[in-house]
Amino acid sequence: MIVSDARRPAQAPRRNSPSGTTGAFSHVRRAAAAAQRPGRACEAEAGAAAAAAEGGASRHYAKNVSAWLPEDADTRLTRRHVRYAQRGILWRESALERVRKCGRVPTGDVQVKVAGDVAHYAGLVTCGSVWSCPVCQPKILNRRAEEISRAAGRWHKRGNSVWLTTLTMPHDAGMPLASLMQVIAGGFRAVISGRPWLRLKKALGIVGTIRSLEVTHGVNGWHPHLHTLTFLTGDPGAAGLVAFDGHMRAKWRRYVTGAGYRPPDDYHGVKVDVCTSAEEAGAYIAKTDSGRAVGNELARGDLKQGSTGHRTPLEILDDFRWTGDRADLALWHEYERATYRHQRITWSKGLRALLLPGEDEQTDEQIAAEDVGGEAVAVIDKQAWRTVVSVPGLPAALLDAVERGGLPELKAVLARYGVDVIEGGPSP
Ligand SMILES: [Zn+2]
Repeated sequence: MIVSDARRPAQAPRRNSPSGTTGAFSHVRRAAAAAQRPGRACEAEAGAAAAAAEGGASRHYAKNVSAWLPEDADTRLTRRHVRYAQRGILWRESALERVRKCGRVPTGDVQVKVAGDVAHYAGLVTCGSVWSCPVCQPKILNRRAEEISRAAGRWHKRGNSVWLTTLTMPHDAGMPLASLMQVIAGGFRAVISGRPWLRLKKALGIVGTIRSLEVTHGVNGWHPHLHTLTFLTGDPGAAGLVAFDGHMRAKWRRYVTGAGYRPPDDYHGVKVDVCTSAEEAGAYIAKTDSGRAVGNELARGDLKQGSTGHRTPLEILDDFRWTGDRADLALWHEYERATYRHQRITWSKGLRALLLPGEDEQTDEQIAAEDVGGEAVAVIDKQAWRTVVSVPGLPAALLDAVERGGLPELKAVLARYGVDVIEGGPSP
């Protein structure tokens, strides 16, 4: 998928970035002002949301990711090579068996298929890890972002509101991620329970919430945090926003200190904003880890490690890929184990039925394993596939070849390795 800067949300999600304003409530005032600006409602339906949430490569691989990547490769091709190269590292190094098999182990003969202009493989294991797989994650999160944007768009169109809330907790270098994850994963549930919440829910017409768990790493260690959307009936206005902000702050502080941690930061601990576009909602909740910039981070390589010095887990993996630094690999393993089995995105009960009626939620594994269809151009048998995956960069390069010149080009590349393919093949 090709993403241009033009498709970035009008107002990029603010995430851990100090702004010029200070004081606990300055952002509420800012958000209240935004809420009153006319004509900024989320009339845009999903559309670009998936694109906006689409992550990709870190910039330093743009031209050096693989000997197979042409000099003039576009963003889509570059991303493919980066993701495949990252997954290639995980074939050897992942702590998770399914990730070690993803895209490597055949379930039968391997098919090379073309849908539209894009080639892909069928007949390979997919891990479906929304946390740890460079190939499955973007596929899953793009779908989630698209759904959430569509839900937010419909809700806005009916004259209602969506608010964004980020919750962070204090942490220090050396704190185990597994313990932090336990605290943060239960955090939002704690904030939206009890009588004060029920009162607020009624007063503001809150119909539901979506929460997403994210992890980055910086000089102060692991930084797990929550991004949440709150769906409200009508527009509760600035007074409602202040009441909501007050509730969030008080409950979050009590929860974090109750778990034995320092109180959350006055400014960064809780941030509430008004959502101004449907695509912003999707991107806010379902960002990929491969780049912090929503949109085309290949062109925004200056944003690597951002202003906060934080790395996303896939950036840590990338760094290991390039430097071989075992400390980065140890961080990656800690991350894989600590996030495993944690749900990344959670809709509150009933919200999905309200906003996306008739659409069943698919699991991460189902989304990752979904065959996008298309025409089978070639079949590579299991033995030949073993050769293909033994050559770094070749699995991605074969897809490029099919897109460039169809079966003849594919055969030409494979012939260099003494591998032959069978033309076409049954469509599953
Ligand atoms: Zn995978």
